[in-house]
Amino acid sequence: MATKYVYFFGNGDAEGDESMRPILGGKGANLAQMAKAPLSLPVPPGFTISIDVCQEYYKLGKKYPAGLDAEVAKYLNKLETTFGKKLGDENDPLLVSVRSGAAESMPGMMDTILNLGLNDKSVVGLANKTNNPRFAWDAYRRFIQMYGNVAMGVDHDKFEEIISSVKAKAGVKEDTELTTENLQEIVAKYKEMYKKEKGEDFPQDPQVQMWGAIGAVFGSWMNERAIIYRKLNNIDENVIKGTAVTVMAMVFGNMGETSGTGVAFSRDPSTGENHFMAEYLINAQGEDVVAGIRTPMDISALEKQQPEIFKEISTIRDRLEAHYHDMQDMEFTVQEGKLFMLQCRNGKRTGPAAVKMAVDMVAEKMITKEEALLRVKPDQLDQLLHPQFEAKALKSAKPLASALNASPGAGCGEIVFTADEAVAEDKAGKKVILVRKETSPDDIAGMYVAQGILTSTGGRTSHAAVVARGMGTPCVCGCSDVVFTGKDTVTIGGKEFKKGDYISIDGSTGKVYGEVIPVTPASVSGDLETFLSWADEVRNASVRTTPSGKTVKGFDVLANAEQNEAPQAFRFGAAGIGLCRTEHMFFEEPKLTSFQKMIISDTTEERKANLAAILPLQQKDFYGIIKTMEGRAVTIRLLDPPLNEFVQAETPELAAALAKKLGVSVEVINKKYSELNEHNPMLGHRGCRLAITYPEIYETQVEAIARATAQAEKEGLKHDVRIMIPNVTTFAELKQIRAQAEAVIANVNKELGTSLKFQIGSMIEFPRAAATANQIAEYADFFSFGTNDLTQTTFGFSRDDYSKFIDSYLDQKVLLQDPFKTLDEDGVGVMIGLAEEKGRAVKADLHLGICGEHGGDPASIALCYKLGLNYVSCSPFRVPAARLAGAQAVIKSNK
Ligand code: PEP
Ligand code: MG
Repeated sequence: MATKYVYFFGNGDAEGDESMRPILGGKGANLAQMAKAPLSLPVPPGFTISIDVCQEYYKLGKKYPAGLDAEVAKYLNKLETTFGKKLGDENDPLLVSVRSGAAESMPGMMDTILNLGLNDKSVVGLANKTNNPRFAWDAYRRFIQMYGNVAMGVDHDKFEEIISSVKAKAGVKEDTELTTENLQEIVAKYKEMYKKEKGEDFPQDPQVQMWGAIGAVFGSWMNERAIIYRKLNNIDENVIKGTAVTVMAMVFGNMGETSGTGVAFSRDPSTGENHFMAEYLINAQGEDVVAGIRTPMDISALEKQQPEIFKEISTIRDRLEAHYHDMQDMEFTVQEGKLFMLQCRNGKRTGPAAVKMAVDMVAEKMITKEEALLRVKPDQLDQLLHPQFEAKALKSAKPLASALNASPGAGCGEIVFTADEAVAEDKAGKKVILVRKETSPDDIAGMYVAQGILTSTGGRTSHAAVVARGMGTPCVCGCSDVVFTGKDTVTIGGKEFKKGDYISIDGSTGKVYGEVIPVTPASVSGDLETFLSWADEVRNASVRTTPSGKTVKGFDVLANAEQNEAPQAFRFGAAGIGLCRTEHMFFEEPKLTSFQKMIISDTTEERKANLAAILPLQQKDFYGIIKTMEGRAVTIRLLDPPLNEFVQAETPELAAALAKKLGVSVEVINKKYSELNEHNPMLGHRGCRLAITYPEIYETQVEAIARATAQAEKEGLKHDVRIMIPNVTTFAELKQIRAQAEAVIANVNKELGTSLKFQIGSMIEFPRAAATANQIAEYADFFSFGTNDLTQTTFGFSRDDYSKFIDSYLDQKVLLQDPFKTLDEDGVGVMIGLAEEKGRAVKADLHLGICGEHGGDPASIALCYKLGLNYVSCSPFRVPAARLAGAQAVIKSNK
């Protein structure tokens, strides 16, 4: 059977349905689904050229597969028959839109061409047939502009210059005020300019136009903004393989006062509230709403003006939600009082909205808790954990302006006016607010780094709003009180600002402030708390069989935290601390000085004396963490720094300052500096190697831990403290250090009359440790995989230097993922699996987890679950996302 490339929809019938997203793209699949029973919604007829063609197109060097032209001709014919008009008909032409649509929606990133089929003759036919010459000529000028720009690459500004000059000559401000004659003049000038630019006439043959548009849409799959969007949104090109092209009969929202165009969300995409949210523009085409050129009105205006249509679209909203069990984003057009659905899709939403909808839909019995948990991307939770304005400072702040609250969260920064400025200032470490009339897809890099986006035009569905929501960047848009007065100046609510001045915006309320308002971190509460409690339930109840055949129950999320971060870890719901890096505890004075004195000690006695000074300071910090965590696990890792990090004396000035601080001569500092300096400090004298050479260091730390725990116990506090040994390469290291630690603990118990016991575990950070995990397990109560070092040592990539080459690896697809970000299943994963198997062969219930940076990465979390680890540990800020990602791993593996 010949390959089928083209699929029809319309008139109560369709060849595809929603399950065919991988072939028809989201748009094509949903149009088909809407058109056919049981929904049978009013969808203009059309056909979709499949994503397979896009792949072929690129494989064949931008050529179409054989037979496509005949198939398209057949379906165009069917479309013409169904709609009762012919493309290029001089009296009553069919006009079509040519649209993109990948299997995952990429709003605004690829191309669309509207009003295709118009030429010098059919424009007259359309004018006569509709008895509306202004409409016909407006459609023609829009088409030339869009086709010229999108398909033929003529600079957008060249068209804008012509429009502006005609408007100025006619003395009008708005496009809508242009007369038919003005529009005819614009068309003539467009064509003239087009010829000059392209060296040929604007194409008059609708077939040429159509194939030009199809090529442009397929071509837009690989345009820069689409590529950036895919990168930013982790859209894998091996899964989402291209765009489909949908050719669809045009209906017109710009045919007078009973026509219009709208974009609607079945629930509020910004907050998640369950109310119908739509924007409508009378006498306009869809692109006017999306491009933010005109600020649309609320749907209530449609309710007043055309109550029947309002009722119809409201019913469709309910039916689509009931069908898709999800919030729908719909585009519709009203042509002379008749409603047409142009698109529906599961709507993009902010993190807060995603959580609220998921929780509400469970309460409405629309979806299960498991489905709800799969509805929210772990990264989206970051948006709920965005800083908010400090309540007190906000109270005394006076807003200068107020507009649409398009994407929630508070942002404060210096004004920049272009995306490039935003990127440059961000690189210089500044926080910025991007202030623009409207944004376009070319601004995406600047929008990404901005603390907030403020636009003077455009609605909730404008580019700025949609993209900001997707990125979780606060956005206020359509703020008419923002007036641009020069290249680098603006007035906001009448007050003058220039580039670099500070403003604050609140994307939740839509308010704009001309001052710095400090921001505070958010906490887990309300719907998020409910939602994450479901995630915890799912993980706690999980049971799986590991690849080595062991049964493991539960899957915890712990945090990597020291004394300052522990409260945050607790607030974000960490089940404990999986890694307390004790060297980080010495970054503060006076501990730092004592620690440095210890490092430069020459004799054991001297070192012991300096350690004695450190002991009470460490004990105090350990006690604080134990108290904060209220009986949850606290895993304290003994010292693991390259010591040279603490003796910075590469310049005479640094050496002199350090000598003064530590009360020794510069010669002593210089001598120690050269002794400690290593060629490869990451593989040097660090971790437990320090304890083999200087046992008193770990002994002191263990004593501080034991004393802190005893203190907590004496006060009736709960505690579960574990001691972790880093950089173990052989069981003999652990055996020796464990014996020393147990001796210290026994002494403390004897002295204080306690009977404290501690689990003592090993980090697994080297292939050798994994390979000999059975030997290590004899002396370890648990393993924690230090996947930063394990990745470094398995790949042989220096974790401090790999940034020099990783981009080349990723660009050339030598590696598909950054292995320091996402665990490498084939190599590092095999090491973990080996250690799991060997370790649990000795101790069946050996507790296993990871504490490298991967612990916060959803894909790595899923791998850890699969490999049978009991927990992941990540930075406190990532804990909520990891709680969700862990639950998603459980749900997906149960499917
Ligand atoms: C690791 O190596 O993954 C780890 C957690 O230890 P560190 O990053 O402190 O070396
Ligand atoms: Mg390490």
